[in-house]
Amino acid sequence: MDDLPFHYAAACDAEGCKLPPCWKIAAAWSHGPLRELKNYGLACERHRDDLVARAQGRREALAVGDDEAVGPIAAFPLRRPDEPTPDL
Ligand SMILES: [Zn+2]
Repeated sequence: MDDLPFHYAAACDAEGCKLPPCWKIAAAWSHGPLRELKNYGLACERHRDDLVARAQGRREALAVGDDEAVGPIAAFPLRRPDEPTPDL
């Protein structure tokens, strides 16, 4: 039964971790004129480094096209709803 007192819309992506995420693991991606952040998952404070390392392994395995570019994996702090949205 799932009767936890709090429900989070998202949780840390580490195996079995139920902590709320504080970090978004992402890499800047571009394809011609298109640019966005490619999302590699969410991490709590404790698993941030683990999940960055895991995302780096996945990124290296990714085939990138000639006009595609993927920047280094980084952890971006998640904002609370009352904080302003950062410009990326
Ligand atoms: Zn975690």
